[in-house]
Amino acid sequence: MTSAPVPDLAALRPRLPSPVEEVADERFARRGVRLLLKRDDLIHPRLPGNKWRKLEPNLLAAAASGRRTLLTFGGAYSNHLRATAAAGRLLGFATVGIVRGDELADRPLNWSLARCAADGMELRFVSRATYRRKTEPSVLSSLGADDCFVVPEGGSNAAAARGCAALGAELRGVADVVGVACGTGGTLAGLAAGLDGGGGRAIGFPVLRGGFLGAEVARLQEAAFGCRRGEWTLDDRFHGGGYARVPPGLAAFADDFEDRHGVPLERLYVAKALFGLTTLVEEGAFAPGTRVAAVITGAPS
Ligand SMILES: *Cc1c(COP(=O)(O)O)cnc(C)c1O
Repeated sequence: MTSAPVPDLAALRPRLPSPVEEVADERFARRGVRLLLKRDDLIHPRLPGNKWRKLEPNLLAAAASGRRTLLTFGGAYSNHLRATAAAGRLLGFATVGIVRGDELADRPLNWSLARCAADGMELRFVSRATYRRKTEPSVLSSLGADDCFVVPEGGSNAAAARGCAALGAELRGVADVVGVACGTGGTLAGLAAGLDGGGGRAIGFPVLRGGFLGAEVARLQEAAFGCRRGEWTLDDRFHGGGYARVPPGLAAFADDFEDRHGVPLERLYVAKALFGLTTLVEEGAFAPGTRVAAVITGAPS
């Protein structure tokens, strides 16, 4: 097999390291705590935030494997599916998206799936029952994955966690505490590892209910680094009722934060992390002088 050309990610001119901006927020200042925004949302317009950091090593691995088609999974509004479709178009991979919910097959595409399709992604809709079994070899085969490079749901695997270690490395010596929103936990797994040894620690704010994430972050760290790495904890209080739920209090917080600081806040992940960090500051969780960084993992779409 001849290997596929190595994708030239540098040609896409990612903004890396991403900028760190300090903002003046009286809720933090009152406690003597500094607030830094790690602007991963500015890395690339079509591959923002942790999606760039997680996809980059997977794209290199895909090229090395000689496969020219990426196959991955997501829900009807998945940021990961859109990023994968965009990466495929920009770097010359075909892409297949396995979408949860076969009832969607008969409906017009929503804006998110329409963008995937516009970037050339072939969409295959599957029942929720099949979707739940998507990591079983026989199910993968039946979905046509045999000749594809398979990227797991949310893009989180060992390579992705290693890619996100760069995020932690960029914040070593810059921040004492780093807050990040968590879906699958791959970003937190890498962030904490990248901070390891630099005196900083990470706090993850799950956006889904369920409390399963700690084991998953530990599993991803084992897979990526061979052991648990760095100091990290989860604070499960800020999911707002579950994935894609934005209760009025959270919406008001996000509107107000945008007014104060002029930074657009993506609501499903980023706003929950900032709400969590702000609440922790108000609870007195951080000593005066603490530098708290919030990872802006994406932009509103
Ligand atoms: C995908 C995503 C996350 C979650 O990242 P995980 O590595 O799955 O925990 C956080 N923020 C934004 C904006 C995302 O798109």
